[in-house]
Amino acid sequence: MDDCIFCKLVKGEIPCSKVYEDENIFAFLDINPVNHGHTLVIPKKHYETVLEMPEAEGVALAKASVKLGRAVKKATGCEGINLLHNIGKAAGQLVFHAHVHLIPRFSHDTMRLGWDRKKYESRAQEEEYRKKVEAAARK
Ligand code: 5GP
Ligand code: ZN
Repeated sequence: MDDCIFCKLVKGEIPCSKVYEDENIFAFLDINPVNHGHTLVIPKKHYETVLEMPEAEGVALAKASVKLGRAVKKATGCEGINLLHNIGKAAGQLVFHAHVHLIPRFSHDTMRLGWDRKKYESRAQEEEYRKKVEAAARK
């Protein structure tokens, strides 16, 4: 896609710190890392989000993310990793080319995830959502 920044990185039109590449996948350091070594893993082909990806390409992205997760852990000595997909504007997605964040984490780093939790109002309401998601997953 012509006006996509990540497509430009894949094509080498804009420089980046590449850490991995294969037939389907490209990975590079995030330009504004949460912690040093913060890596982005992307499909070479343009999809807005991971939800649009065909299954085989999704599998390739997941496999590469696990492989690179190990690499990031080994390379940075981090204690943990947040593996994140921001899917859609409401979820914080700014670049609309599917990507996985591999964020190295340390016990006393400055990253904070805001996780205000709701409760289901009743067992019946939880069951309503369970049924809706179960039915959607069947299609
Ligand atoms: P999002 O909020 O869409 O999940 O995250 C997009 C990420 O891409 C951000 O963390 C941002 O720092 C990173 N990013 C945006 N533009 C560039 C770029 O040109 N080069 C690199 N290496 N990272 C970028
Ligand atoms: Zn793209």
